[in-house]
Amino acid sequence: MSGTEVDYLITGDYVVTMEPGLEPLVNGAVAVTGEKITEIGTYEALSRKYKPGRILGGKGRAVIPGLINTHTHAAMVYFRGLADDLPLKEWLEGYIWPAEGKWLSDEFVSDAITLACLEMMLNGITMYNDMYFFKDSIAKTTRDMGMRVVLGAGILDFPTASANNADEYLSKAENFIKDWLSSDSLITPAVSPHAPYTCSPETLLKAKRLSERYGVLLHTHLSETQHEVDDITKLYGKPPVEHLNSLGILDNTVVAAHCVWVSDKEIDILSESGVSVSHCVESNLKLASGIAPVVPMLKKGVNVTFGTDGAASNNDLDIFTEMSIAARLHKAVNNDPTVLTARDALKMATISGAKALGKSETLGSIKSGKLADLVILNLDKPHLTPFYDIYSLIVYSMRASDVDTVMINGKITVENKTCLMKDESEIIERARWWKDRIALETKN
Ligand SMILES: [Zn+2]
Repeated sequence: MSGTEVDYLITGDYVVTMEPGLEPLVNGAVAVTGEKITEIGTYEALSRKYKPGRILGGKGRAVIPGLINTHTHAAMVYFRGLADDLPLKEWLEGYIWPAEGKWLSDEFVSDAITLACLEMMLNGITMYNDMYFFKDSIAKTTRDMGMRVVLGAGILDFPTASANNADEYLSKAENFIKDWLSSDSLITPAVSPHAPYTCSPETLLKAKRLSERYGVLLHTHLSETQHEVDDITKLYGKPPVEHLNSLGILDNTVVAAHCVWVSDKEIDILSESGVSVSHCVESNLKLASGIAPVVPMLKKGVNVTFGTDGAASNNDLDIFTEMSIAARLHKAVNNDPTVLTARDALKMATISGAKALGKSETLGSIKSGKLADLVILNLDKPHLTPFYDIYSLIVYSMRASDVDTVMINGKITVENKTCLMKDESEIIERARWWKDRIALETKN
């Protein structure tokens, strides 16, 4: 083969670019050199033009941009199933916060993140937006697993294993931002005040100043439960979105997780301020927090994306199920089968997710010059045969287990369903070792 050398030519029956206005390429190909996409086109054209080091994909495959999880606490995979079938307040205060108080350490978080990255990559997620503690361990482990993260240093008004008070969280957050701001292309630091019910207005404003000073994202929980709305309204005279808006916190550098209980007026505020919403449908359903008004938000132009939330309230890290459930649920809720189409759902999971995380210039769609975060899907399955529309297939029929190969930043991290970064059985064995210790202590 002659032509210009590239590292990879990734081919498929379909290349679903998620570029606005561009239909999926039939018998398409993506040329990749180094970290970036060199060109997209038909296999016929690109195979004549380029001499690839390797060809990936092929017949019976489809290529999509990597899926983006815009709200999680990835290290909570070790608390998966620790306490289920409880209301949010009881679940958090009775089980999750005590377990975190007892177990969180650099070692715990690092081991848990290894498992979370493995799970997410095998499920086709290439970037996640995290809010947690022991963030240096999260950053290092995520980098070692070859995965991309926007990582918000968690901030609260009360003590945890990570810090004693708001000022200590804030100063640790600032140090974290300084250390990671431009040190690794896979890691982007952010600020994460937990929620308006765990952070005073003063703490929220300090977090906002920090985000402005360093030009980083502010990631928070917002209007998750009716209980939160009642409490915040009682305290500040207005519901959570209005409360944050009156403090001057809301703009297009904010990712707000949940936004379940928002009024029409608050939807207008979210739209006008440019806040991105992370819709965590599975977590909201499981905790019976409610159903976010996603269709009204989309109609008003709010950038709505998907988050899994932590695996303790989900109980997995899988954007395929988020897409599938959301696309079905909101049709039923709105009594209208034409809303939240399959194409809308995949957009929320890719390019809208990249926009939320301030990365739409470099990620979220397949375009020459963008970073090569790509997923190859295996279409050769009975439950995927036949199909007439690739978006419908991905959202309504596909499972995360149909992910075959994952590339992040031009590097293959999963190939033929096998993680190339670390031995999978070792990661699972380690998770079971921690579980035995946690289960024993929880019983006592
Ligand atoms: Zn959360």
